[in-house]
Amino acid sequence: MKTEVLSGKGLAGMIRERAQDEARQLELRGVHPVLAVVVATDDESTLWYVRSIERSAGRAGIGCRIVDIGPDATEQVLAGVLRDLSAEASVNGIILQTPLPSGVRADNLVGLIAPHKDIDGANPLSLGRLAVGQPAFAPATARSVVEILDHFEVPTAGRNVVVVGRSAVVGKPLSLLLLAKDATVTICHSRTGELEPFTRAADVVVVAAGRTGLLTGSHVSEKTVVVDVGTNVLPDGSLVGDVDAASVSGVAAALTPVPGGVGSVTTALLLLHTTEAARQQAGVLGRPLAAGVA
Ligand code: NAD
Repeated sequence: MKTEVLSGKGLAGMIRERAQDEARQLELRGVHPVLAVVVATDDESTLWYVRSIERSAGRAGIGCRIVDIGPDATEQVLAGVLRDLSAEASVNGIILQTPLPSGVRADNLVGLIAPHKDIDGANPLSLGRLAVGQPAFAPATARSVVEILDHFEVPTAGRNVVVVGRSAVVGKPLSLLLLAKDATVTICHSRTGELEPFTRAADVVVVAAGRTGLLTGSHVSEKTVVVDVGTNVLPDGSLVGDVDAASVSGVAAALTPVPGGVGSVTTALLLLHTTEAARQQAGVLGRPLAAGVA
């Protein structure tokens, strides 16, 4: 059978246009949305990613301040930066970019991002609010999966959705978003053992484990829609997901590509979340702002 490729590029473009439109409307009211990205690494691929956010923000009319404090930054310095940005009125959204210097724990820092500026849902308060259905920013990657499913009209209500991965940034928030969309959610993880009995019975499988080739053709059926969140850099520098695309293609109903799937939509959502945060902070009325919450 032919497996449909669910590219994220068209959707990402639509979300970027929406962010640009929101930014334009805010400018008319004297509000200039600004995203701050805190970076403390010399990892080239991370720096490249951050610059790509800056470029996309610029094209959408959103300010992007890269706060690069270098790979030797201490937890104390990072904490101070996050506190300052949280208090600064001209900054609307804050991202703490990983990886962090060795010995610095993101868990000790993300709680310092003011919840109303937490546009990538990193603060545990945001996750807690998602859990009880209160307005909060979901992590952009988790929301990206839901937006892709909606865009391609993949039904979730009453369907069996398997999420492989239980991290606080992807697996857990995504499971909450899917529950809010009435899916029957099963979370698999590193101690699940055989994935096949779960994934083969699922209507939708989302893989977010960071393991190259984890999901193969034998894990899916002809009805399965597969969303690949994984991003793994191979020794030759190329980017692949967690899905063995060659073996899943021809078996599953549909598959998101890597690159060009979840990742493209994620970056666009960071921009949209920034405009939503700016709108909320300025007290400007408009569309409902509960990002990713239903
Ligand atoms: P993580 O390492 O924090 O969590 C990985 C999860 O996968 C864990 O819960 C673990 O239990 C599970 N897991 C590991 N090996 C497994 C196995 N063999 N079988 C079943 N489950 C297994 O990673 P993360 O931050 O959640 O990211 C997951 C992947 O998503 C990574 O590849 C990451 O690069 C990617 N990611 C992509 C984006 C994007 O925008 N495209 C954003 C964030 C993360």
